[in-house]
Parts: sequence; structure tokens; C-alpha cells
Amino acid sequence: MKKIANESIDFAQQHHEGKVIAEKKTYKILDCNYCGFIHATAPQDVGKNDLYSSHFYEVEKPDYIDSNINDADWWDFTYGLRIERGDKIAEEPITTWLDVGTGPGLFLDAALKRGKMATGIEPSLAATRYASSKGHEVVNAYFTEKVAEVIGKFGGIHCSEVLEHIPNPSHFLSIIKEVMDEKSILCIVVPNDFSIIQDIYTTLNPEVEKWWVDPPFHLNYFSRQSLNNLLLRNGLEVVYETCMFPIDIFLLMGDHYVGDDEIGKRAHDRRRQMENAVNKTENAGILVQMYEEMSKLGIGRELITFAKKVPNL
Ligand SMILES: [Zn+2]
Repeated sequence: MKKIANESIDFAQQHHEGKVIAEKKTYKILDCNYCGFIHATAPQDVGKNDLYSSHFYEVEKPDYIDSNINDADWWDFTYGLRIERGDKIAEEPITTWLDVGTGPGLFLDAALKRGKMATGIEPSLAATRYASSKGHEVVNAYFTEKVAEVIGKFGGIHCSEVLEHIPNPSHFLSIIKEVMDEKSILCIVVPNDFSIIQDIYTTLNPEVEKWWVDPPFHLNYFSRQSLNNLLLRNGLEVVYETCMFPIDIFLLMGDHYVGDDEIGKRAHDRRRQMENAVNKTENAGILVQMYEEMSKLGIGRELITFAKKVPNL
């Protein structure tokens, strides 16, 4: 029988091989034949449980909590679409959500507002304290087998901007499956990397480094196809796909935001204003269709993928 990646928990012991498509710091970025997706090679100094427990919000992203709070309306719309989509896909409306990597708890806010019960898991103490201060139930931990054992099952699992940071995504998905039953819906959100837009921009601007390559924080780089393959080989079948706005299209319009936070913020504000305008006038259905089509073309900045357990696995 062919050996597949999720049979082994120890990532470093697996036989990773493939074309090296980028290098950064001491890392090589491999288009791995074994895993079926792009990842950093043998991440010897990652997977240690201190990367996100305090370092992430305090050193790498000091403004992350504040800037998310300032965009609260937009996040409510963004997360609301996912919660509503979950209800549409599930056989019956989802009543309980687990948000893995909950950060400041904005997904929990959106779930609660829509009458759902929601629990968060968050390794950062600062973010946990903030989310808990709003009355949310948040477990301050990494999402491990031990946590999965005690936390119970959920109708919906939301896991946004997490999988790209995880040293062994297959193993992580096996833990997620522990909190799913056969009806549960998983919503995974990851950056869409080595995309056509990134390719166009770096081809026309060869002096610009591949800014999305960022080990040890970003270890894995997914496309629609490679994410779907990863889910399927872990017993999860994709039931719905969409994406977030292709914010990197601003690069092609002359807004060179790489390395310039001012321009980057302006790009985000314009996207946010556009989506809020469409939503306020009750035209959100247009955005929903637009992003579904964009995801088929591989141009959304983040992939939003819903999956269920493959029956009888
Ligand atoms: Zn690999």
C-alpha cells in the first residue's frame, strides 16, 4: 500500500522531496511530492510552542488586535458569510462553533450575534485575555490531541489563517477530525500562495522578493488544488469553495504595498469600503457569486474551503 503523509506524525522523519522553488533565511521552500503541497524543508526550529503563545502578538504583530477591532463591522460581515454558508451546507443549522486560532475573538462575536454557541482556542495569552474579556469561552492553548479529547464535538469548526503556520498540517487535520462528527462542517481559510497574481507581479518586478515566503511563520503555501488534495487524503471532502478579495490585485494597479504599510492599509481600506457598500445596499449576493467565480480562477488572496468528513472513514 502506498504510504501517505498522514500515517506519520513526525514530519521531520518523512521523506520530503521535490523542486526547491524559493529560499529564505536558512529555509528552502519545497514543492513537495510527498506532501502534495509547498512547504518549508525540515523546519528544525519550528513547532516549538513558544512561537505564537506570546511572541506573535507582542513582537511580530503588535497592532494586530487593535487593527482588527477597528475593522469590527467588516469582520462581522466577513465571518457572517461563513457562518451563514455553514448553515446552508449543513443538514441542519449549525448551533455550535469552534474557532481554532481565535485571536481577538471576532469570529466568536459574529457567531454569538447569530445565535450560535461558540468556543475559541488561542495560544496567545494577550489575545485570549482580550477575547475572554468580552465574555467568550476561550481555551488558552495550542490545539492538541489532549485539548480535542476534552473539548467535545462541534457542528462547525472554523480555522482561519492557521494551517499555513503548522509544522505538520496532516497531523493537525487529524486533530480537527476528532472534534467533528459525520455532520460537522469544517471551514478552512489559508492564503492562496504562488498564485497567478503573485506570479505576474514578481515577473514584472523581478527586484521584488517573494514577500509571501516567510518562514518560520509561514511554513506551508497552498493553492486551491493542493489544499483540496491535502483535505481529501486526510478523509475530508470539499463541499464548497470561495475566496477573499484578491487584495494583491492592487499591486497590478500600481499600489506597491509590499514593504509599505501605509499603502497596504489604504488597499485594505478600499477593499473594506467596497464590501461594506455592497453589503449595506443588500447586494451581498453579488459579492458571494463574484468570489465563488474568482476562486475557480485561483485569484482570491485567501482560499475559503468548506469540507465534511468522508463517510465511513
Ligand atoms: Zn513534504
